[in-house]
Amino acid sequence: DEKKLTLLASWIKESRHTVVLTGAGMSTESGIPDFRSSKGLWRNIDPRTVASKDALDNNYELFRDFYTMRIENLRDCKPHEGHKILADWERRGFISCIATQNVDGLHHMAGSEKIYELHGNIRTIRCEDCDAPAEMTEFLERKPCPNCGGKLRPNVVLFGESLPYTELYNATQEISKAELVIVIGTSLQVYPVSQLPDLCKGKKVYINLDVDIHSHQFDLVIKGSARDVLTRTNTLLQEVG
Ligand code: NAD
Ligand code: ZN
Repeated sequence: DEKKLTLLASWIKESRHTVVLTGAGMSTESGIPDFRSSKGLWRNIDPRTVASKDALDNNYELFRDFYTMRIENLRDCKPHEGHKILADWERRGFISCIATQNVDGLHHMAGSEKIYELHGNIRTIRCEDCDAPAEMTEFLERKPCPNCGGKLRPNVVLFGESLPYTELYNATQEISKAELVIVIGTSLQVYPVSQLPDLCKGKKVYINLDVDIHSHQFDLVIKGSARDVLTRTNTLLQEVG
């Protein structure tokens, strides 16, 4: 196990272009549940069915309640040591950027600068109907769009919607020229992010609590928590050089 971390640390040192790809597992240790493990926790509904364009269109109250719950959950959540280490690695030139499926903004809060938020950000609100930006308080107070009376929604990518073109394009470019890609805390089941690691022509590393599904696609698979693996790798990185 320690051998794998030492190998990862040496690859990080050697690589001239490293991209980190994160998912919900990056944030569970900050108190934000992922979707797979939290199935049934909220009104016995699979979150993946509510975080959808279909729910927004056809079941708006449920949709709004779900996002109100998620936004309120975020209030006390802070980046953990793992987020801070990634920000530090960017400053030290070890990684070039982060592409994330997370909508919680914790990478920003930790000080990372080059971040592609492939699924948007839950902290800002817009109108589904006229696209005008709106205040968070208006959404939380269940108000309609002040501009057109339409449905307010967070700026996240819902199941059934397409990803922001520029963010996806830039992340694709970065990963295509990466010598190392480190995938952390994602089940890699959501398209098209699930396809991104394969664009890397260099080394591919997978860090996740549950590693059974994707092992064959990666050069190095590390079973563990994001915070723990990043903390230990960071320590080794100091020793390597
Ligand atoms: P997912 O829920 O499908 O998978 C998370 C993975 O992380 C699982 O395989 C789990 O075993 C692993 N994991 C959980 N805790 C971990 C930890 N501490 N360390 C390492 N691994 C851990 O999440 P996904 O692949 O990101 O896809 C879910 C979708 O839901 C995404 O589109 C995302 O936008 C959205 N989502 C975002 C957040 C967030 O912003 N924090 C939270 C939940 C869901
Ligand atoms: Zn509107």
